[in-house]
Amino acid sequence: MGDYDFTAEPCVLIQGAMDTETEYLIGQLKEPQKVIMGNWTFYTGFLGKYEEPVVISKTYQGMVNAAAASSLALFNFKPKAVINQGIAGGHDPSFHRGDIVLGEKVIPMGAMIREYAPEGEGISETKFEPLPIEIYYARTGHREKVTEFPCDEKLLQIAERVETTLHTGRGVLGSADEWNNQIDRIALLREKYHTASEDMESAAVAQLCLSYGIPFLGIRILSNSIVNGEEFDESVGIEGQKFTLRLVEALHGV
Ligand code: SAH
Repeated sequence: MGDYDFTAEPCVLIQGAMDTETEYLIGQLKEPQKVIMGNWTFYTGFLGKYEEPVVISKTYQGMVNAAAASSLALFNFKPKAVINQGIAGGHDPSFHRGDIVLGEKVIPMGAMIREYAPEGEGISETKFEPLPIEIYYARTGHREKVTEFPCDEKLLQIAERVETTLHTGRGVLGSADEWNNQIDRIALLREKYHTASEDMESAAVAQLCLSYGIPFLGIRILSNSIVNGEEFDESVGIEGQKFTLRLVEALHGV
């Protein structure tokens, strides 16, 4: 393990925004090495019973922080897969606090074109369409505009087979620099996008992984569900990290 070159050899990049989403995993690392780049800190090391090479990244909260941390990591390491994991708020009432949503895709739900209204017509929160986001694929020179970002089907299937006592299920991850508390707005987002949860990082990371062509998976454990009247408890993030550790073990040899 000692001479593993994380800048050249494959690893799994695991991200979380907060301590409650990263500290447990960092504590489990064998041969941890701290790598500081700009304002962000990364921990290289070996995780789980198969000593899988990983880089753990604390991104801090929000889309810009997540994008910056991802950009540094994707440029400086060679991840074969990126797992963005952490806590989230529930949209789908069938998921409760402590349940895990395994991302089937990610919707950048803050990207919207609002319908025209003349002066004096007021402000509508309901009249909008998705604003397509430009993706540039450096390897092909091709670019396109998209309204959603994929999660890797193979990673998703492996995640579905991880043994856990927690309730897990596939769902659409909504993501934006937003915290929604209006039940009607959440219902509208579900109607338009079928979101199961909302978080503030996964879309930024999924967008960059699409651009770079790196398999991505978003995993969110619900820390709150306003649609079920379940209040915020960030400590569930530790259970989310334990699930991620088991997923990393399941990725051995893949
Ligand atoms: N106020 C506390 C907790 C912030 S929780 C603090 O700043 O320490 C916000 C983080 O949790 C974000 O990183 C986001 O990804 C996630 N999150 C949890 N519940 C959320 C919700 N209902 N809406 C949006 N993001 C949520």
